[in-house]
Amino acid sequence: MSWEDKVRKVVPYTPGEQPNRPNMVKLNTNECPYPPAPGVRKAMEEFDTDRLRLYPDPTASVLVDALADYFGLKNTEVFVGVGSDDVLAMIFMTFFNGKDPILFPDITYSFYDVWADLLRIPYERMPLDDNFHIKKEDYLNKKNGGIIFPNPNAPTGVLVEPEFIEDILSANPDVIVVADEAYIDFGGKSALPLIHKYDNLLVVQTFSKSRAMAGIRIGYAMGNERLIKYLNDVKFSFNSYTMNQTTLALGVEAVRDDAYFKEIVGKIVNTRERVKKELKELGFEFQDSMSNFIFATHPKYDAAELFEALRREDIYVRHFNGERVKDYLRITIGTDKEMDTLLEFLRNYIK
Ligand code: PMP
Repeated sequence: MSWEDKVRKVVPYTPGEQPNRPNMVKLNTNECPYPPAPGVRKAMEEFDTDRLRLYPDPTASVLVDALADYFGLKNTEVFVGVGSDDVLAMIFMTFFNGKDPILFPDITYSFYDVWADLLRIPYERMPLDDNFHIKKEDYLNKKNGGIIFPNPNAPTGVLVEPEFIEDILSANPDVIVVADEAYIDFGGKSALPLIHKYDNLLVVQTFSKSRAMAGIRIGYAMGNERLIKYLNDVKFSFNSYTMNQTTLALGVEAVRDDAYFKEIVGKIVNTRERVKKELKELGFEFQDSMSNFIFATHPKYDAAELFEALRREDIYVRHFNGERVKDYLRITIGTDKEMDTLLEFLRNYIK
């Protein structure tokens, strides 16, 4: 026997690379290519460092209130965390404690199985159809301990409508259903209005993509008061001070500037639609994406080789090794200029 027998052994999640070179084109982790709202910069410049002597408000109330106001909710219906990763991890810990497996798609956010393994939660992956769409039937009649998927799904970009989620909710009243809406602002309709109709729905969103603040780490869950209370009970049993003083001050400013938020989201959506056309002209194939990335394959070129060729030019996209996805590249939508650099490279490569 050794101490090693008592270790909680896990295979960790592998985040995308974060290289930082001056002229690189970074399209590999779905970040926003535009800066955060101007008010965020101002709040950062004016931040009084003396405040750092004190612990932050453990209830993160300024940020929770700002989000509740923005979405027309009560502040008891909002939970905030250190990025939606933290929020999702808390959700797994709080709500996925049954004996039946939780369900999520076979091609999806690759952190779900990591949390499930970490927390010893049984799970089952439900295969997407051949066009990378979630098969709703899989989630309607199967005994399970909870359901989670991103909408739009990642890395496929495929969106479902709220009615699709509603069918899953009503078929599964005894478990929690989580809509991970990390990318919903890029053209989808949120399931948020359903939280008052279904007491088993949690909607999770993030500041990392459409609010241009992946570096600050803010995510949030919205659901009825009882769900949020249970989440807070677990959070306060784990780490009370998750949201630091700077994050709270800057996060509030990001929520306040709705015009800026809409402006940058609009720009990204326009760029995405243009890039879709150009990629198609180059022979790429992909499902219609409603997120800030496109998951594309080319019938004539090997994705892993293309990934390496792009990398040599300092253009970073994401390539996953899974059996069903190894022929694809996930390309984040950057600025028009960044996308032009990518497209120009591809035009030369594909001849
Ligand atoms: N959900 C999905 C589907 C994602 O792609 C990501 C980004 N990696 C996250 C959640 C987590 O994002 P964050 O922790 O930055 O909010």
